[in-house]
Amino acid sequence: LSSPPRRPIRELPDELISQIAAGEVVERPASVVRELVDNALDAGATQVTLRLLAGGVRLISVEDDGQGILRDELPIAFKRHATSKIGNLRDLESVATMGFRGEALAAINSIADCAILSRASGINDAYLLDGRTGELKPVARSQGTTVEVKELFFSTPARRKFLKTDATELAHCIEAVRRHALARPDVGFAIWHEGKLIEQWRRCEQTDPLAALDQRLSDVLGPEFLAQSIRVDWHSRQTSEFSSVPLRVWGRVGVPDAARSRADQQFCYVNGRFVRDKVLTHAARSAYEDVLHGHRQPVYALYLSMDPARVDVNVHPTKIEVRFRDSREVHQAVRHAAEDVLAAPRAGTAAGAAD
Ligand code: ADP
Ligand code: MG
Repeated sequence: LSSPPRRPIRELPDELISQIAAGEVVERPASVVRELVDNALDAGATQVTLRLLAGGVRLISVEDDGQGILRDELPIAFKRHATSKIGNLRDLESVATMGFRGEALAAINSIADCAILSRASGINDAYLLDGRTGELKPVARSQGTTVEVKELFFSTPARRKFLKTDATELAHCIEAVRRHALARPDVGFAIWHEGKLIEQWRRCEQTDPLAALDQRLSDVLGPEFLAQSIRVDWHSRQTSEFSSVPLRVWGRVGVPDAARSRADQQFCYVNGRFVRDKVLTHAARSAYEDVLHGHRQPVYALYLSMDPARVDVNVHPTKIEVRFRDSREVHQAVRHAAEDVLAAPRAGTAAGAAD
């Protein structure tokens, strides 16, 4: 056997590094939507508007009314590993924002035609930065930011071929916003496709967070979800060896009768972040052990709040996976929280759900 030809070790060009990173973060238009909506929420937006063309392949535009970006910082936003959200390891270990990697905009800009328009709070001018040319010019807009992403994967045609039909990509984009919307009843969301308003969830004015959540769950998942689910509101009594901040589990779990053939209404959030986690899914499922048989899938929207230091969100570039410092305690908490209400006398019937 002959050895392969020797090739020199070289550092990759920046553009290629970003394209590789983009491969991890951006699978399809919905991944871009998730990143841009994360950014809007991190900026304190109260209204987020998504506009799409061709299921997001031709255009994804996310407009917010958040704090905006200063003119001089606009070009930095597109740089790799540039973020305003963390500054040191300590920040990383207790990150409270959706973003912190400073990679999304750079990655997206390397595989699409991007522009940012922004007007920072307290500033009278707005600017547009063209991600391709780096050109900065004044524009008119109110406070907030719009990020426009055109012709996704235009420079990586192999990747573009993996995309499904516009209708399928659109459905994934809507799902991405739905996940955010279920976490933030205090923020209004609107989705436009091809110039038509296709979804709108108004911001809930209720000051009681549980009432606001009920309103949002009903708006997003339908009044049936609310009618066929029971409120969960559980606090851990003792503090943990890891933290003095008590663990809290809240939200709603569907009655057994509301179970479906598909697991398409199972939402778990950790400190406001939508996650897919085996510990949580298993815990929720085990709460139904005695009341739900066969392969039917329960419905639930469960929210955990805990000391950010007790959960590592830096496990996967998309941050959809997390790692708990004490997964046993988290498992027990979720299981108990759900079991308690499901075991209550009238929980088996939809009539018992209204509380
Ligand atoms: P990250 O979110 O991890 O910080 P991004 O690449 O998504 O990284 O964004 C880089 C930076 O650009 C953010 O840290 C933030 O300062 C700024 N930024 C991006 N989007 C917005 C927005 N919608 N409003 C205000 N600032 C934004
Ligand atoms: Mg981000």
